[in-house]
Amino acid sequence: MIKLFKNLKPYSASIGIVLVLMFFQSLSQLYLPTLMSDIVDIGVVMGDTKYILKVGGFMLLVAIGGTISTVIASFFSSKISVGFGKDLRRKVFTRVESFSLNEFDKFGTSTLITRTTNDITQVQQVTILILRMMVSAPMMCIGGIVMAVSRDVKLSLVIVVIIPVLVALIAVVAKKGIPLFKAMQLKIDKINLVTREGLTGIRVIRAFNRIDSEKKRFNDANKDLMSTAIKVNRIMASLFPIMMLLLNLTTVAIIWFGGIRIDNGNMQVGDLMAFIQYVMQIMFALIMFSMMFVMVPRASASAVRINEVLEVNPEIKDSKKTIKADSKRGFIELKDVTFSYHGAEEPALKNISFSAEPGEVTAIIGGTGSGKSTLVNLIPRFYDIDSGSIYINGVDIREMTQEDLRAKIGFVPQKAVLFSGTITQNIKYGKENATDDEIFHAAEIAQAAEFITEMKEGFDSFISQGGTNVSGGQKQRLSIARALVRQPEIYVFDDSFSALDFKTDAKLRIALKNETKESTVIIVAQRVSTVMNADRIIVLDEGSIVGMGKHKELLKNCEIYREIVASQLSEEELA
Ligand code: ADP
Ligand code: MG
Repeated sequence: MIKLFKNLKPYSASIGIVLVLMFFQSLSQLYLPTLMSDIVDIGVVMGDTKYILKVGGFMLLVAIGGTISTVIASFFSSKISVGFGKDLRRKVFTRVESFSLNEFDKFGTSTLITRTTNDITQVQQVTILILRMMVSAPMMCIGGIVMAVSRDVKLSLVIVVIIPVLVALIAVVAKKGIPLFKAMQLKIDKINLVTREGLTGIRVIRAFNRIDSEKKRFNDANKDLMSTAIKVNRIMASLFPIMMLLLNLTTVAIIWFGGIRIDNGNMQVGDLMAFIQYVMQIMFALIMFSMMFVMVPRASASAVRINEVLEVNPEIKDSKKTIKADSKRGFIELKDVTFSYHGAEEPALKNISFSAEPGEVTAIIGGTGSGKSTLVNLIPRFYDIDSGSIYINGVDIREMTQEDLRAKIGFVPQKAVLFSGTITQNIKYGKENATDDEIFHAAEIAQAAEFITEMKEGFDSFISQGGTNVSGGQKQRLSIARALVRQPEIYVFDDSFSALDFKTDAKLRIALKNETKESTVIIVAQRVSTVMNADRIIVLDEGSIVGMGKHKELLKNCEIYREIVASQLSEEELA
């Protein structure tokens, strides 16, 4: 919590203003009962109307001053806490965006969303509370005690009796409430997870008739959160009436004993009235404290979760001294690369070495799970390798900035991802300042122009969230167009032709050939027909290269390649 509050630094001036204003507000609160007792004991007793009006007017001024302070302080403290929340959200989001995929996998999307939204809201709310109470609660509590004692020492014994009771009550509430509040954040995570899966997986859920079980899963999570929330609220709700009861009992006790003291002539009526007010102030201050006792642990549970995200030191970082790799264009070399995913026993890739030059097409083929996607994900440095090195234009990719590196690559991921927005916007994602001609050209090469122009609004047609209103093959072609528009040095197509029919696949490859003459192309594919004409075919099996060469060579000397080919092509085609 304290660590997070360091982010409040830009607001120190406003915080200063709030604290000073709250100080004045508390002073005025403490001063008012004294003035009132003066009116009663001097003005009323003497029958001095002028005195009453004078002090009464003064009281009014003090009260107005206190009110204005509170209003301004509320204004500033709201601004501070909302700004603080905004800063935190920005920080968390920026940090998450810099995560490597490993770190991303470790947290999971749902909890990252809760942490950026709900957890930060918790911290934001408690910030406002702390800002308002930090000065006034201790001042009212201690000041109240001092003032009450100065009014009447003997009667102050009532306070001595009541405060331990109050403190014990607060302790019990805090002890019961805090674990529940912590549990609540986890349950919100859970709801978030179930909701996301239920929404994104809606097609599968329908297809498998799992609507009822999904409903149940959601209801369980929902009820779980509800029952915890009810428990917490029960405790919190019981706190207030008990406090009020105590407060009223205390008042009765004060009037009782005070009455006796007034009868005996040891105390004046005004003093008694002031005394009651001070005791109330003390008790209200304690109630505020108790609120803090409950809110702060909840927020600090949230703060821990936020810090967990902020404290991740992204494992993939630009090195201090970076080199630009612009002397050559499109040269890739992998040297003895071994890579394993976090927590995996076996490396996903072992001793991979190959190199590729501009104008060449390198195809990677192999069974599912053989490590093809893993291999191409290493080139844009989505993961860092365990040993070996990857060079682009002769420079180790760990010595370049990630931005420079990725600017060289047109990457078409295995799972085509589109963003909500028009088709033009989606293609422009590859190159911000692309002209309409460039966009059209890219779409044409990607064999997407035809279906785009057939759409009602052409290139301005809207792609819905997740690209659900275009077919899988259309999505793939749009994401190919997005890579093409960059005109990069290196193209990486990860199984990007799998959802295309054979005719479109063939047309696309012919068009691509022309377009990528001066670039290096890496194609991951399942179909032999897609890779057959490549300059170099790499056959992967269980993370190792088991064959590399041209189609004809591999047919001769690579058993696994022969198997793949045999399973796909007829004898005549082979010959
Ligand atoms: P391919 O693309 O050839 O089908 P992948 O490269 O996707 O295969 O996967 C290779 C292996 O790495 C598989 O055994 C898979 O289980 C594992 N793997 C893939 N992605 C991850 C990940 N994010 N975390 C852990 N293991 C992974
Ligand atoms: Mg794959």
